[in-house]
Amino acid sequence: MSAACIFCKIVKGDIPSFKLFESDKVLAFLDINPLSKGHALVIPKFHGEKLTDIPDDSLAEILPVVKKLVKATGAENYNVLQNNGRIAHQEVDHVHFHMIPKPNSEEGMGISWPQQ
Ligand code: ADP
Repeated sequence: MSAACIFCKIVKGDIPSFKLFESDKVLAFLDINPLSKGHALVIPKFHGEKLTDIPDDSLAEILPVVKKLVKATGAENYNVLQNNGRIAHQEVDHVHFHMIPKPNSEEGMGISWPQQ
């Protein structure tokens, strides 16, 4: 945990979030400034700035959660992004994977997350 980190504050519940999944090592929640409907972030609870700072056992649990979220949206088109360092456009210094669904058609996305 890092006292100043906003994602650690989300893990602790000090900052509210719309949680989509939680286990002892991983948390997923909706992005506050979504690039598309359903844009979610999946983070290790362990505080580390970059991918290389995260223990393997936490990393191993992240992609299955990303997969679960993609399936929950029903999106057939989606981006999974993970930025490391300012030059690579990382703004929040706690490792996070973006899961960004794209519309299946020009009619848009009919995503509705299961209620908590
Ligand atoms: P970028 O902003 O370039 O995507 P990052 O990869 O570091 O940089 O992404 C940080 C993400 O965290 C952004 O998509 C932003 O909207 C999101 N974010 C920041 N604060 C919160 C918050 N309190 N709750 C949910 N998402 C947040």
